[in-house]
Amino acid sequence: MDTVTTVEAVRTRAQQWRAAGLRIAFVPTMGNLHAGHTSLLAAARYRGDRVIASIFVNPLQFGPSEDYTAYPRTLLEDQQLLQEARCDLLFAPGVTDMYPHGGDQRTLVVVRGLSDILCGRFRPGHFDGVATVVAKLFGIVAPDVAVFGEKDYQQLLVVRHMTLDLALPVDIVGAPTVRAPDGLALSSRNRYLSAEERTRAAVIHQSLSQAVAALYDGDTDHAALERAGSLMLERAGMIVDYFAIRNAADLTEPNAACSDLVVLTAVRLGRARLIDNLRTHRP
Ligand code: AMP
Repeated sequence: MDTVTTVEAVRTRAQQWRAAGLRIAFVPTMGNLHAGHTSLLAAARYRGDRVIASIFVNPLQFGPSEDYTAYPRTLLEDQQLLQEARCDLLFAPGVTDMYPHGGDQRTLVVVRGLSDILCGRFRPGHFDGVATVVAKLFGIVAPDVAVFGEKDYQQLLVVRHMTLDLALPVDIVGAPTVRAPDGLALSSRNRYLSAEERTRAAVIHQSLSQAVAALYDGDTDHAALERAGSLMLERAGMIVDYFAIRNAADLTEPNAACSDLVVLTAVRLGRARLIDNLRTHRP
């Protein structure tokens, strides 16, 4: 696997492959790769003739008091993992490759309505940063298909809507969340947890499972289920940003007749802010 850092280099390689009639599958990441990312690469391998991954810790999607500087950067280990996952090309640009004009990015991609709710309320500007960098990466790589994790469910919807609204010729594929044996979704931010916090973090998946089981059993009192989920997390010592039952298609608030649902939560535990979700169909 080759690693390139410039826009020109990745564009040239992708153009050569496209000219040879090869289908390009793309997996954008922020690095510090784990089995969640590997599953995305496997999905990409299945859907494309060539797989391009990117590693870029995007400053535009971090708030001023967030963990941009502390975010784990592990390029050598990541290259090893990508090689083993049969990735063909890694694009690992520096900040000046992606933002040559520094912080003066004039163009922002804003997916209205989806970006200022749930995580967007607690991380103002976050999804504008995500949508902008993904649009830019799509412009550089011009993939046929791109794979994103359902773990970041709101992000997946933001990217899907952005791609549709801008008529970008990229198929967006969502890949299932990969979890540790105790249910905790794998995340680069899990490494911020102490051993004791890591044990308690299993309650996140338990709280989501409890709500999903109740919804599946026909419980339509969403407000009570949201309170019960929050309480369970608070009792485990977490600060709950939100615990919400939403329509899976667009994250609007569902009524009792809506059947395609997702339960989402974001909590703060020690130094980490962790997010997770579970989808369910009401019978
Ligand atoms: P990140 O490097 O955290 O920005 O994530 C890059 C991609 O990997 C995103 O599409 C995430 O949704 C996805 N991802 C992260 N963790 C997981 C996981 N545990 N299971 C599946 N996909 C994941």
